[in-house]
Amino acid sequence: MQVSRVAEVIVETGGISMQKSLHYKIPEEMQSDNLVGSRVLIPLGNRQASGFVVGLAEDTSVDRKLKSIIKLLDQEPVLTKEQLRIARWISGYYFSSPQRTLQAIAHPVLNKTRSCREKHYYVNFSIEELNRVTREIRRAPKQVAVLNTTARSPGLTKKQLSEKACVSYTVIDTLISKGYLYFKEVMSDVNSTSYISPVKPELTGEQAKVVKNINFYLQKNVHKVFLLHGVTGSGKTEVYLRCIDCALQLKKSAIVLVPEISLTPQMIRCFKERLGNRVALLHSRMSKGERYEEWNRISQGHADVILGTRSAIFSPVNNLGIIVIDEEHEFTYKQGESPRYHARAVALYRAYVNSAAVVLGSATPSLESYCRAKDKGPYTLLKMDNRVDNIALPFVKVVDMRKEFSSGNKAIFGSELFNAVNKRLEDNEQVILFLNRRGFNTFVVCRECGMVLKCPNCDISLTYHHQGDLRCHYCNYSQMAPSLCPGCRSKYIGYFGTGTQKVEKEAKDLFPQARIIRMDADTTGRKGAHYRILKDFEERKADILIGTQMVAKGLNFSGVTLVGIISADTGLYIPDFRSAERTFQLITQVAGRSGRAKSGGEVIVQTFNPEHYAVTAAAAGDYEGFFKEEMNVRKEMQYPPYSRMIRLLFFGKDENKVNSLAEAAFKILQGYINEDKGIIAVGPSPAPLTRVRGNYRLHIVLWSKDEEILRDAVKKTYDYCVKSVGTGKNAGISVDVDPYSMI
Ligand SMILES: [Zn+2]
Ligand SMILES: [Zn+2]
Repeated sequence: MQVSRVAEVIVETGGISMQKSLHYKIPEEMQSDNLVGSRVLIPLGNRQASGFVVGLAEDTSVDRKLKSIIKLLDQEPVLTKEQLRIARWISGYYFSSPQRTLQAIAHPVLNKTRSCREKHYYVNFSIEELNRVTREIRRAPKQVAVLNTTARSPGLTKKQLSEKACVSYTVIDTLISKGYLYFKEVMSDVNSTSYISPVKPELTGEQAKVVKNINFYLQKNVHKVFLLHGVTGSGKTEVYLRCIDCALQLKKSAIVLVPEISLTPQMIRCFKERLGNRVALLHSRMSKGERYEEWNRISQGHADVILGTRSAIFSPVNNLGIIVIDEEHEFTYKQGESPRYHARAVALYRAYVNSAAVVLGSATPSLESYCRAKDKGPYTLLKMDNRVDNIALPFVKVVDMRKEFSSGNKAIFGSELFNAVNKRLEDNEQVILFLNRRGFNTFVVCRECGMVLKCPNCDISLTYHHQGDLRCHYCNYSQMAPSLCPGCRSKYIGYFGTGTQKVEKEAKDLFPQARIIRMDADTTGRKGAHYRILKDFEERKADILIGTQMVAKGLNFSGVTLVGIISADTGLYIPDFRSAERTFQLITQVAGRSGRAKSGGEVIVQTFNPEHYAVTAAAAGDYEGFFKEEMNVRKEMQYPPYSRMIRLLFFGKDENKVNSLAEAAFKILQGYINEDKGIIAVGPSPAPLTRVRGNYRLHIVLWSKDEEILRDAVKKTYDYCVKSVGTGKNAGISVDVDPYSMI
């Protein structure tokens, strides 16, 4: 006799998500269906809910009255077995609810709209017959309106037609059934590739060596992680393409992750030209229909190279051979909301499961990755130190803004940058001005000596609060803002911040002859806006491009010979232990935008901290030097990569309840600290963003060398909080494992 089986279901609830799966009987008629990975309708209490079938279990509960699944919601499973496995891993590692995780992975399928095959409508008679036909149906004026509209402008979609003729969809459907109208299905052109160019550029010696190394292991079918440390312009994209070629020849598929798709039009073009329609694109700027269509092409095997942002790591590819993560140090790979996964961590897991290769590429690798690749670590370090065509790296000049300040120039542009921009404008060359605006403009810096006020306990910049209160967002240390600089007794200590708009205004005043465009979150809201701005700049319709992080990504402009970094320090003041690392990465990346042309380039870095190692190392192009210095700092404070970090965030409308929840959580953690298990926990302290949408926020940051003990402590604390909060909405807790943002 066959053992009867029950379905394990993760229920989709509106409110608080359940941590565990529930069991349901599988009705007779569904026994043969492919249930695992599908969604089903199930009874829950006295209502109905949907849920994901995540597995089948033997029915060991003969006398327990299990309820039955009501019906199957999908014709085909929405998740593959591999995706379910990834979901389980993410929920476990990141303490995220299984429901939210499954929804995040299946997102393109769950949010499908009608596919992007559009119906275009036409009249089924010649235009001379229009009068005769409309007379026939003159009693239905709405139908007449539709026929008139369609005859005048053939090829409209249903939506356009109904809007233009002011009728409902039913009127159009009636005309279809009467035979007056017909439609053609047209594929919207997400994927049209104009031509495929099989021409591959010749590899440099460095590239060839790296490709050979990676492909050797690809062919051997073993899981292996490579860190490709190549300077900007060293031709990493070509390396990726050659390794993907190798994977495809082995009948394997590839996933390529990029930090921000709209900023990598050059890379997309490159992939499409070389691989044509085998490439599927997946990113958040596509419409739901487009994403669904791409998802289908992948699961049906029509596309086997997936190029996309963070969530493309979940794509339903079969037989995965290689995962490439370009600019692996970028923070956009970490999701800010639950499930707070890092795409690199998921990639490592997925590649491990598939015995696939991972290539992490960067000119400025994250400290975490680099220390795993150095000194015979688990990763293999591959280096490319020269630019393709041997174009020299740009000349970087550091300008001490303290001197400018004391000589009386209090403007945003120091005299060096001013003169350099003027010269470029005279020579008809292009300039990029970069402003690091991430984080806060509420840090305190002395404009005379460059001193930044830091927490004596945590070595983290203090943040300015109202009423002159300076506060550490890790340990909650606070002090009054001094009126004189503790370093040099100057009275020019205060908060400092400059926006792109202010830079734009000053640039317009200083360089009235220049054509200036600005690219930041305010000017790029509309779809395609990035692309248009960059295209204009590429076509030399502007002389100066002013921008934030967005201009730091992998773009090459042959006309740019000067990059000015307005204030290199901004990143140094972010209350985060990674602030020096971010500053180093940004200066290096931005500097890489200059001098891609044969003429060579110049970079001017304005700073109040010219001797800070993040600034000097970036100016000298000295990654190793930076790495050594920064690792010393991390070691001293026991920050990652010397430890693992987890952040607990408490939030809610009721400030008292949030406070007491955080206090209770800290008591549990205190047990671990008192027993000296090597956990450091600081807080609870107000999160830098203390209030978000009426929610009051507190956090506890904890870190430890011993990952197991740390996770155990967090698990106990988390379980306690979830239980004590219950279903109340006045306070809640969320966990961020390996946090990348502390705001
Ligand atoms: Zn000072
Ligand atoms: Zn502190």
